[in-house]
Amino acid sequence: MKINNHFSPNFHKKTRSKSTIKLIIIHYTGMQSGRESIKRLCNPKSKVSSHFVINRKGKIYRLVQDNKIAWHAGKSSWRKYKNLNKYSIGIELINKGHRFGYTKFTKKQILSLKNICKILIKKYKIKSKNIIGHSDVAPLRKIDPGEKFPWKELAKKKIGIWHNCKLSLLKKSRKIKIYTMQEKAKFINNLIDIGYCVSNKKKTFFFKITKAFQRHYRKELINGHLDKECLIIAQNLSKHCKNS
Ligand SMILES: [Zn+2]
Repeated sequence: MKINNHFSPNFHKKTRSKSTIKLIIIHYTGMQSGRESIKRLCNPKSKVSSHFVINRKGKIYRLVQDNKIAWHAGKSSWRKYKNLNKYSIGIELINKGHRFGYTKFTKKQILSLKNICKILIKKYKIKSKNIIGHSDVAPLRKIDPGEKFPWKELAKKKIGIWHNCKLSLLKKSRKIKIYTMQEKAKFINNLIDIGYCVSNKKKTFFFKITKAFQRHYRKELINGHLDKECLIIAQNLSKHCKNS
């Protein structure tokens, strides 16, 4: 697999040890063009970067070495980890994003992503439950890589996780509202098992984190409202995470 070096000056100068790397965070660039995106990720004024960028044709660029901290996640958390730049490898996929015309990721792009993840998983022993999207680790601020990202397909290669619920059961449960506090509390506990940081009791926070969950695991309806389908999926994923 060919990786093209295209180094960015945007990283912490201190070197990190191999064992610090615990997560892979997936992004989309959300800009008009691929060239413009790479330019921004390499511009010292932007103060943003990632370890890898994959363009629409599947070409992989390395912007920052793995043993350096790139600036892609911002204020973020996942499981016990906070400010995730330090613990993660950031991968950007070229996509115009929700602001400029969100499109499907290309087959070549996803194939390259699979290949690069395979190497990273092996090298850093990254658990599949620790391969997530930017929106999962910063649900109040971010919506990338978005609902068109093929998490289900990638989970077959241990890149991220997916549920094994019966589709007929899920369909029946969609839009069935959850009213009781106990069920809501159960959902929150499931989210925590999956890795989400539910640090905030405000209603708007619950709405946004539910939306982030849906964007990742229940793309058919992303409305921020908890329903029975979400609860069933969360329960299933929670079990998966506890056993891995
Ligand atoms: Zn992002």
